[in-house]
Amino acid sequence: MLAWSANHVVILAQHHTADFELSRMESLLVKESPLLLPLNKEKTVYDGFITVQERDFRIRILLPPDHQLKLAKLQCCWQLKQLLCGYGHIVKQRLHHSPDLVSFVLELKTVLEVALKCRPECRSIPPPQYYSQLIIEMEDLGWDKLVSIDTEFCTLRLRAEDSSGRQHVVTVKLKPKHPVEAPWCSADLPVPLAMTWTPQSSLGHVHTQFLLLLESLAEFWAVLDEIDEKTWVLEPEKPSRADTMRRIAIANNVSIKVEVDTQHPKMLPECCLLGAEHVVTPLRNKLNANMHLWNPDCSILQNLRDVLEIEFPSPATHEKSSFSAECGICYAYRLESAIPDQVCNDPRCGQPFHQACLYEWLRGLPSSRQSFNIVFGECPYCSKPITVKMSTQKP
Ligand SMILES: [Zn+2]
Ligand SMILES: [Zn+2]
Repeated sequence: MLAWSANHVVILAQHHTADFELSRMESLLVKESPLLLPLNKEKTVYDGFITVQERDFRIRILLPPDHQLKLAKLQCCWQLKQLLCGYGHIVKQRLHHSPDLVSFVLELKTVLEVALKCRPECRSIPPPQYYSQLIIEMEDLGWDKLVSIDTEFCTLRLRAEDSSGRQHVVTVKLKPKHPVEAPWCSADLPVPLAMTWTPQSSLGHVHTQFLLLLESLAEFWAVLDEIDEKTWVLEPEKPSRADTMRRIAIANNVSIKVEVDTQHPKMLPECCLLGAEHVVTPLRNKLNANMHLWNPDCSILQNLRDVLEIEFPSPATHEKSSFSAECGICYAYRLESAIPDQVCNDPRCGQPFHQACLYEWLRGLPSSRQSFNIVFGECPYCSKPITVKMSTQKP
């Protein structure tokens, strides 16, 4: 009887301490983060805001029924998510080691303070002059140039048209101390976007410098636009204005990869022929023999036609599907971003494969052998000898 009573008391006491701990924790939490409140009676869902450096961040904390913090889930607003980007492992570690929710919230606040310090643009709110200055500058530039502006009024996207009618956009992130501090600019360009800036500069200066840079690249884009328009480009799938490379289809499983120089876009580019040896070798010989015919006054496409003595298949003459033959191993055309660029050299076979697929396939065959990073084996289709280099992405 006595034993039972004692046990009972202990259990009661435990309950009591637990309840007491919980309520003490809650009052502390209310003190620390008055905007973070439990949503249910079980107190497994907390919702609200945590305040760091006078900024409120929306957060929801989901606890398991036993309130174990290490199994807690955090749902953050996007600003918080953005701010905690790169701190995920620290937050997880703090969840594991904090004895209760209050300690964790305190830890989280410390992490956020550090994160805010490293990202001053998230911290300081610009003074009122900032906004009036912004309006004056936009009025000077013309509101028609504004594509979009974010809700914080710090990131603007401005449109610009080059002399050939191509549309471009420059993204300008203004600093809170604008225009004393230079803004951060970026655009879809093959070259770095370097802007000169003085405290007297304005958005108009950014726009003018951007236009000048666009003009310096006009010839480069004209060369690439001609290729994109008159040939079948296999890679990149959707070229951006920053892409300097094109892989152009010549015939089924035969293509040429050119790397166009932004400064000298009509010079002989770096070329790489891809395809079965019996087709590629004669083309390579022509390229070497006719290189002296390259005319830097003509476009790359015209020069390639003359030097290789071929007509490129174009959207006017061919369907793209005639060049996008799928890989003979995975039966897909794209594997992540790769297209099948390995081809069986047997003229009667010519089956294309992804490099990664062929490498894995050959390595799995008992009859294949590897020397350094090259695997020798048999074509899965015609059993003729085939080799593949280890994919560069793989260790
Ligand atoms: Zn494949
Ligand atoms: Zn084959």
